[in-house]
Parts: sequence; structure tokens; C-alpha cells
Amino acid sequence: MSMAQMRSLLTSFDLQTGLSPDRPSIQRRLSAMAGMFYNEARYAEMLAEEDSLIYEFYDMGVPAQAGEIAFGTSITYPGRVGDEYFMTKGHFHTILETGEVYYCLRGQGMMLMENPEGRWEAQSLTAGAAVYVPPRYAHRSINVSPTDPLVTFFAFRGDAGHDYGTIETKGFRKLVVDKAGRPDIIDNPRWKEA
Ligand code: MN
Repeated sequence: MSMAQMRSLLTSFDLQTGLSPDRPSIQRRLSAMAGMFYNEARYAEMLAEEDSLIYEFYDMGVPAQAGEIAFGTSITYPGRVGDEYFMTKGHFHTILETGEVYYCLRGQGMMLMENPEGRWEAQSLTAGAAVYVPPRYAHRSINVSPTDPLVTFFAFRGDAGHDYGTIETKGFRKLVVDKAGRPDIIDNPRWKEA
């Protein structure tokens, strides 16, 4: 069997940066996060100064089929928009009944989750922590460190798909903000019932 025919895959992710030398990441800059941070005025000020890299992640190109497992790393950089920490957009899976595992390789963060029935949960992410995101739960990674990137490795069924639109439209019910140097979970003042 030639290498070109191989179905298995070997790749690497740096334990400090989370980055892979094997393919380009997908990058989300501040300009791609319009409407995601609740302090819109501060968002506009920051964007006028610099279109900062907020997070990046990998799509390893695994076939989008049942039985496949999509995987990669996600790297969320330190920073805040006002008192709200840098975070990923967050998403539901198109196949809502999809669970996902995140294993934290570096940093300090939180995984914020909520389901369409109105339940929400949050778990801490520190190096060595594994978080199981259950089926039906939207999920968002939040970096609460002032200095270090939050690096996680994720795996989920290959045909699950992503629904970003629901969160883009109505947001999460809860936000994670800095309060006197510590993360605090507050109600999202702009949350809309779907
Ligand atoms: Mn996911």
C-alpha cells in the first residue's frame, strides 16, 4: 500500500501552542466576532485599533460520515472585550444528539454549555482536565487567563456538523466575565428566546 492510499492519519499538535505543522488552522479574528461580545461599544473601539486573533482551531478533513471521528485542537488567546473574556463563538451540532470530548492541554478556562431546554452548565478547563459535553448542548471555550493561551483537544462524530447560527442569533444565556480578577458567571443581558 502506498502512502497516498493510507487511510490512517498521523499528525501532531504542539503542547504549548496547540498548533500543528501539518495543515493551516482556521482563524477567527475580532472582526469575525461581531455581535458576540455584550459590550458593543468596547468591541468597536478595539476593532478600530487592531483586528486581533481571538481563536483558531483545526479541521483535519476527516470524512463527514457516521463512524468517523472529527478531531483537532482549539486555541483561544488571552484577552478581554471590556470585562468579558476572549472566547469561541460556540455552537450546537447540526446533529443535536452529538456529544464531544475536550481535553485541556494548557491554560485556564471554562467550557460553557447550554441546551435548547434551558439548562446550562459550566466546567473548568486546566491542563489535564477532560470535559465531556453531552448531546444537545451548545458549547463555548472561554480563556480566563490574563497571559496564556487556552489549548484543548476535541473529538466528536464526523457527521455531526456545526450550527453556529443559533448562538449568533440569540447568544448564550450566561456570560463569563472578569470580576475583580476572577471569572464570574452572569446572566446575558442581551439573551433572546429563540
Ligand atoms: Mn462541537
